[in-house]
Amino acid sequence: MNTSILKEREASISDRRERGRRVIAADISCERESVSGAVSQRACVYCGARVVLNPITDAYHIVHGPIGCASYTWDIRGSLTSGAEMFRNSFSTDLRETDIVFGGAKKLTAAIDELMEKASPAPRLIFVFATCIVGVIGDDIEAVCRAAEAKYAIRVIPVKAPGFSGTKTQGYKLACDALMTLILPHANQEKRFGINILGDYNLAGEMWIIKGYLEQIGIPVISTITGDSSYEKLIQAPSASLNIVQCAGSSAYLAQRMESELGIPSVRVSFFGIEDTTASLLRVAEATGRDDILNNARRFAAEKTAKIMPVIEKYKPRLQGKKAAIFVGGGFKAISLIRQFNELGMETVVVGTQTGKKDEYETIGTLVDGNAVILDDANPAELERFMTEKNADILVGGVKERPLAYKLGMAFCDHNHERKHPLAGFEGIENFVKEIHSSINSPVWKYVKGYSL
Ligand code: SF4
Repeated sequence: MNTSILKEREASISDRRERGRRVIAADISCERESVSGAVSQRACVYCGARVVLNPITDAYHIVHGPIGCASYTWDIRGSLTSGAEMFRNSFSTDLRETDIVFGGAKKLTAAIDELMEKASPAPRLIFVFATCIVGVIGDDIEAVCRAAEAKYAIRVIPVKAPGFSGTKTQGYKLACDALMTLILPHANQEKRFGINILGDYNLAGEMWIIKGYLEQIGIPVISTITGDSSYEKLIQAPSASLNIVQCAGSSAYLAQRMESELGIPSVRVSFFGIEDTTASLLRVAEATGRDDILNNARRFAAEKTAKIMPVIEKYKPRLQGKKAAIFVGGGFKAISLIRQFNELGMETVVVGTQTGKKDEYETIGTLVDGNAVILDDANPAELERFMTEKNADILVGGVKERPLAYKLGMAFCDHNHERKHPLAGFEGIENFVKEIHSSINSPVWKYVKGYSL
């Protein structure tokens, strides 16, 4: 495999030692469209929008486009529900050649009518996603959605997300706009003491863990956006007094809009690792302005830390000195992971994200050794090259990175789509440490090391 770096990609890589260039982390080129032909690991605009909206458990999601786009379903995103299961279905207009020539709007109208006729329970909220080909042929999905809302007196919200129309971040923004379209008609509610959790998608039930922590220290949770959420819960969000933002990449924009249009301030949180989980609990408690809650948070975090430390101490001797590579969606998660590896005495030698921002890369630059490689919007060739050069022992990534690690004979930890065990909160720390240990120290690697692509 040719692993030379494309010239247009050089500004997105901080690799100080190798070529004598001085692209420092804070100067990394990011938040821009992928380089043509670079085979980016990043998902498309539509996928970005779907990832945010799909966990709404009682919503119906119609993908207006070819059937291939609809393959992005609940099955590749293990978001759990305590109520409705509608979101586990996927609906598509399955556009064919004739629809593309003559237009697909009628087919979309027919799909909504069919859902209203046959779906049980009857839909109250439908999202219609326009994918690439609809962006090309120009179906007026807004008009179709408006007509359906008038006909059925339900919410039918268009999400114009052709995959080619920007980056995954643009998809996040479109989803946030769709959520505001849903929430804004319910803006005039009395405020009450309680928070909304933004940007947690309840993968493997993680949102339930965090919600439990907050409730134990005395903070009620009003709405979760969007893990384990429902139409009824979402429209209560304007009554909250505070938003906490877990996945800033996908939800910082929603938090900004909710602050300026609904007067709800926000704090950023990350519940990955001891340091960030503790700091987040204290930050949220401080933001409530209540001393009793702050004391509860301090006590709670101290007790949980005391319980988890023996687990860290047990596995640390077998992990100390190992080298980690990270490629995840957002910069904030990458930062938490680097801190977790630091807690285990491991070194992060490669770190990249799909949608990291300048300030996040700047923080990453302060947490890793000067020789670590930092990449924005990486592709498989770059990951292979740098993980090999830096002798990484394990890659932490998502479903798209897993085959790359295994083909290189490298341990892997899924920190994204498919995993079935929580990695957030103190319970998640235990799972994470055990998984890193069992993957890195598996005897299998001594039989496959030495093979290369
Ligand atoms: S890039 Fe376009 S065609 Fe591919 S999944 Fe995304 S919206 Fe669909």
